[in-house]
Amino acid sequence: MIVVLKPEATDLQTEQVIAKITEAGLTPHVMKGVERVVIAVIGDERVLGPDILSAMSGVQDVMPILSPYKLVSREFQKENTVIDIQGVRIGERRVVVMAGPCSVETKERLFSIAEDVKMAGALILRGGAFKPRTSPYSFQGLGEEGLEFLSEARTKTGLLVITEIMDPRDMSLMMKHADIIQIGARNMQNFRLLSEVGSYNKPVMLKRGLSATVKELLLSAEYIMAAGNRQVMLCERGIRTFETATRNTLDLSAVTVIKQLSHLPIIVDPSHAVGKTDLVAPMAKAAVAAGADGIMLEVHSNPELAYCDGEQALLPKDFRLLMAQLKKIAEAVDREM
Ligand code: PEP
Ligand code: MN
Repeated sequence: MIVVLKPEATDLQTEQVIAKITEAGLTPHVMKGVERVVIAVIGDERVLGPDILSAMSGVQDVMPILSPYKLVSREFQKENTVIDIQGVRIGERRVVVMAGPCSVETKERLFSIAEDVKMAGALILRGGAFKPRTSPYSFQGLGEEGLEFLSEARTKTGLLVITEIMDPRDMSLMMKHADIIQIGARNMQNFRLLSEVGSYNKPVMLKRGLSATVKELLLSAEYIMAAGNRQVMLCERGIRTFETATRNTLDLSAVTVIKQLSHLPIIVDPSHAVGKTDLVAPMAKAAVAAGADGIMLEVHSNPELAYCDGEQALLPKDFRLLMAQLKKIAEAVDREM
């Protein structure tokens, strides 16, 4: 349930409400808005009925949160969440672009792609050091060395870095090298990983599972937020359907659906959705038009040599062209790039 305090509620009254919730064994998540304080009460509500809380001084209203996810829901927070990472604000008017190779390969290649995407206007460099590969014999990523290359690329270019975590034991490495931690589609329901990442103060991008519904995606995001981390963004990256013409089916309606149900920013990754270079640009444009807060794109200077996903990578020159077009689309829908 949500406890809405009166605009004139004192700090003492607020503390008394919080204490009441904690004493009952429930968890209060406090949102301090400009006008008033709102507290989401998480846990088994049978131990503390809404009547007890509504009778307390300073309380204006107690409302149930009807959706199964609570902290993630628009019912809990009306305003969009904006994640500020060193001045790069995700979830506001500006559509952010994350671009780079599928995986970190050689240092030289990473640096040259990073320079290319930076010149074209990307703000965030992507690149996997731990790769979730379908076959155990495929390239699994450079691990810690790859993370070090990403850190060096950040120093050289000023780009922020997003990279995937697969194992909670790598959390300290992530804290050191990543600006945004990515949880990949295959780990969307790895609940221990979600809670672990949620217990740190570091922005997270959670990708939609291959066969997950929007509700399941939001419930997974709830695991991260329930552990304390409020800096969560979601990513639509295509879902598996009967269609085989594309790698996955990009569910663009999820962008609008998520905007209605949740206050969290939503990013679209057309590269993994379509899986073919020539289909990436049209879907990236459609995603911006649909209201995505950001776009993630795979870019490679030599796709034939890429260790993975070369068939969906954009060449730097095509990425540049696409960025110019995305800018115009963003303006047409009252956004900017
Ligand atoms: C990726 O972005 O590197 C990736 C593996 O994507 P997904 O988890 O969406 O398949
Ligand atoms: Mn990839």
